[in-house]
Parts: sequence; structure tokens; C-alpha cells
Amino acid sequence: MPDQMEHTDPAKQALDQKNRPEHTRIIVHGIAASPGLVHGQVFVFERKTLEISQRIVAPEEAELEVERLQQAIQRSEKELTKILSFTEQKIGNSKARIFEAQIMILNDAVLIDQIIDRIRNTRFNAESAVHSEMTKFQQTLLNADEEYLRERADDIEDVKHRIIRNIQQQRLFSRFKGSAIVVAKNLSPADTILLSRNDVLGYATELGGITSHTALLSRSLKIPAVVGLHNISRDANTGDEMILDGYSGTTILRPNRNDIHNYQEKKRRYSLFEEKLVVLRDYPAETTDGERITLSANADMEEELDFVGFQGAEGIGLYRSESLLIGRDTFPNEDEQYEAYWLAAEKIFPHDVIIRVFDIGGDKVYPKMIEENNPFLGWRGIRILLDRPELFRTQLRAIFRASTKKNVKILLPMISGVSEISASINHINDVKEELRSKGIPFDEDIQVGAMIEVPSAAILSREIARMVDFMSIGTNDLIQYLLAVDRGNPTITKLFQEFHPAVLRMIQHTIDSGHKRNVPVGMCGEMAGDPIATILLVGMGIDSLSVVPAVLPEVKKIIRSISYRDAAKISRRALTMGTPEEVFNYLKRTLKTKLPDVPIG
Ligand code: PEP
Ligand code: MG
Repeated sequence: MPDQMEHTDPAKQALDQKNRPEHTRIIVHGIAASPGLVHGQVFVFERKTLEISQRIVAPEEAELEVERLQQAIQRSEKELTKILSFTEQKIGNSKARIFEAQIMILNDAVLIDQIIDRIRNTRFNAESAVHSEMTKFQQTLLNADEEYLRERADDIEDVKHRIIRNIQQQRLFSRFKGSAIVVAKNLSPADTILLSRNDVLGYATELGGITSHTALLSRSLKIPAVVGLHNISRDANTGDEMILDGYSGTTILRPNRNDIHNYQEKKRRYSLFEEKLVVLRDYPAETTDGERITLSANADMEEELDFVGFQGAEGIGLYRSESLLIGRDTFPNEDEQYEAYWLAAEKIFPHDVIIRVFDIGGDKVYPKMIEENNPFLGWRGIRILLDRPELFRTQLRAIFRASTKKNVKILLPMISGVSEISASINHINDVKEELRSKGIPFDEDIQVGAMIEVPSAAILSREIARMVDFMSIGTNDLIQYLLAVDRGNPTITKLFQEFHPAVLRMIQHTIDSGHKRNVPVGMCGEMAGDPIATILLVGMGIDSLSVVPAVLPEVKKIIRSISYRDAAKISRRALTMGTPEEVFNYLKRTLKTKLPDVPIG
């Protein structure tokens, strides 16, 4: 009987499941969603599956059922209002919008009347009326011409659960004693928030990607999290011990003594290292031989803006404007957008803010209009914006209006060829002309850049460099499209290899193409923030790195500890290697030798 299992191969997992001893040590790799390293007891959070008893009630009972419904709605509203204000206090207004949207569903008179009609006309009991009408509502949303966000359908699911639970007068257990790592199949936004009233050491979930609600909320709450963990809620029991590493995306369930020793050692090194990093805040990201890298942060939430400065970032290298859509089912209008962009530009001044125009579609938030079999290969990013010029131009106007401090740049997502750039530039020029004619001030010299995240754009980066002021490599998508590996699919996480030789060559080609035209090339995908990749990227000649704020000081420390000459040699050698493993091991070894106090692996 094995005393340990690694969950990487789904077929093997099925076999393992059969033989699974209760107390086996299990290592599960997932997606690092929020940084931090913790060790503690597990609390398995289980949302009971709803059991709906479908009954036809006697005519005289129908009004009683309507009353039960109304009481449950009132109670649900109270609960959500509480969660809303708790969220506002804890992490600010923008995240709280998720719950405003849910309260709006509860106040949707048409929907509630339909449920009441169902009770009165067909004499369904309250819970089955809610279930059938709200499920119908979800279906309508998915099939209608104007489809709403995927989260919107999830919101309806959450609200449906909430009302039915309240009709059944069931309580949801979201409290536990002491501190714990919460393990769950999936966490709704409300679950994540409610649970955070306890002493949550970390979140470990089966579902969810890097941009899921659990990931976004846990980052705001500054609670370490790993998502996309195969079968974790099946394998873990409340009270089990767990080590959760939100930096590497690894969890160890029922760790042995050696694991705990390693954890303590790593934790100690992190603390020591972090103390050293604080002093670096006001220093530039410069190699020992004077090569400067612009080190900025990926940030878009109002609540993150102060933290960006605190971490010593030189501006925002990626402002994902689609985050403005979280928790709403319509696009923010020009003024609302202007306010958000202005706030960022003002707070980050004198540094720059690179605002990426809406990268909607794919798995991202969007009031979608069509059903797609392969959304990642479908209507996404610039493709939508060019097909919906009114949407694009409204956003451009808002960005231009927020550019008067001359520290705003525009970034175009999902570019696959030159014609998308020329079409975008035409819109940009038209909007400039419109603002000029109205006497509205803006930065005439605003810079426009292209994301290089589709392999065709990387191949054409020479041509693209002629048309833009800067390029930014988006490795999250570039890797997924280049290696044909879905970035959000936990079954194939291990195939998502940033050190794949093909990825490395494509990055080098893009950097060289930019430099031939004197166009700076940056990187804003997750790879930019991976300490193991830092020396490689510097050596390849990257001009800027935009990373999640939490890892920024560590990346800066590495840059400041190496010479560009050495880094260039190292990257040249890495580029000759044939497999991702070879590159990874080489870079890890190199980092360990050059900077023994960087806590990796
Ligand atoms: C990327 O693809 O690397 C990127 C930064 O964009 P996003 O993760 O928002 O798709
Ligand atoms: Mg992308």
C-alpha cells in the first residue's frame, strides 16, 4: 500500500480512489490563486445538495406557501445585506457589487410574481415553485439574445439556493472554532466572504481558475488560496492536517514529519527574506551592471492601488479593465469608466498606468451574446471590440479623458495580426478627433501597445512593432494557445509549461523583434512574476515586467542581485535546452546558487 500519492494523472486517480487509505499523505497540485504559505487543520465546507420535495398543496394551503416564500425572501435579503456591508467594510465597494447584484435578483418583481403565480395556479409548494421558476430563469438567461455574464447565472444559482434553504429553514454552517484551512469543492462569493469571518488560514478548492471569484476575493482578503485541486474535498476530512502553498499552488494533505520540517524551514526563509525586501522598496529594479527593468504591478481593484505603491511598483503594467464588469450585467457607462481610470491614474502618478481595453469573452466576464463551443478560440478581446465599435469608442473616450496627467497608455488584447491593430488605431484616431472638436482635454501623445498572447502575433511581432509604441507579452494565453493547453483545466495543469522551449523561443523572438524597431517589450502574464523565470527574462532582454503586487519585492531582489551579462549567458544556455524540465531545473539550480536566500521549491 503506498504511503503517498501524487494527483496528476486522472486515470491513475480513479484507480487510487479505490485503494485510498484514509490516512494517506497526498500531494495535490493546483493553481496558485493567492500567495502565502500556511499549515493547519482542515475544515471541509460542504454545501448540502438541495433536496427539494415537490408537492401539490391543498387549495387552502397555497396562501400559506406564498407567505413562506415571502418570509424566505425577506430573510435572504437580510442575509445578503449583512454580507454586503461586511464585504464593503472588509475589502471595499467594488467587490461588494457581487452581492448588490444578488439582492437585485431578490427584488426582481417579475421573477417573484412568476413564482407566486406558480404557487397559486399550479399549487406547487414554495420550494419547488422557486426551483422550477428560477431554473427556468437561468435557462432563459443562457438562451436569450442578450445573454448575461456566466457569473450572473451563478448568482441566480446562489440566490436560488439561499431562498430554498430559508424556506426549508435550514442553517448554513459557516462557522468553525480556531483556525483552519477551508477545503471545498467550490465556494460561492458569499461562502468565501462568510467563511472569512472565522480565522481562515487558506482556501483550497476543486473548481475555479486564477480569475474566479474565490481567487479574486481571497487575494483581496489577503488569504492564501489554491484552486483547481483535484478531488481535494473528497480526500480531505475536517481535522486533517494540511500544508497549503499559495505561491506554488501545491497542497500536502496529511503531511509527514519531513513535510512539516520543510514547511517550517520555508516559512522561516520567507519571513527572513521578506524582512530584507522591505528595504528595497524605494530602489529601482536594476542589475548590478546598470540594466534597468521597469517593474510594475498587475492591478485593477480600487483596494489594490495603495498596495501597489507600498510594494514599490513603478506603476501599473496591466490594468485589466474587464474587472469593472465583475458583479454587473451591463457595461459601465463612459462616466463610470472615466472615474475608475482617473482614480488609478491619479493614485499611481507620476508612474504610468497601462489600461488594457476590455478583454471580454473566453472565460472572462461578459454579458455574452452567443453560445460558443470553444469560447477561448472564439469571440474575445479585440474581436468583440472591433465588432462593437460603440462599446470600444465609449471605453476609449473614458480612457482619453483620464489621460490628462500624461501617465496613461492603451493596451490592445488578443491581437492576432496587423489588421486588428490598424482598425483599432483608426478608432483611436477618430475618438481623438471627436474629443478635439469638443474641446475635451486629453494626452495627444498617448502610447498604444499590443498584447502578444496569440502565437500568430508573436510570429508577426516585427510587423506589429512597426505599428505600436510598445508590446506586452501575455504568457497566460500565449502558452495556452502555443501548447494547446487550456489554462483553466486542472487535469492538464502540468502541461502548462512556461519553460517549454517553444515558449522560450517565441518570447525571445518577440523581444528581438521589438528591439530591432526600438520598441520596448514587456511581459504581464503570470510568468513575469515567477522568480525562477526572472534571470531568464532579464537575460533575454525584457524591458519591463508587470507582476502581482505580492511577488514584486522578490522579483526586484533577484534583478538587483544579478548582472545583465551573466543573465544573458544563462538565458542563451537555457534556449539551447530541449525540454521544459531541463530548463526549469537549470534555472532553479542557478537561482539557488546565485541567491541562496530566495525561498524556492
Ligand atoms: C495573459 O494572457 O498573459 C494576460 C496577462 O492576460 P489575461 O490573463 O488577462 O488573459
Ligand atoms: Mg490574456
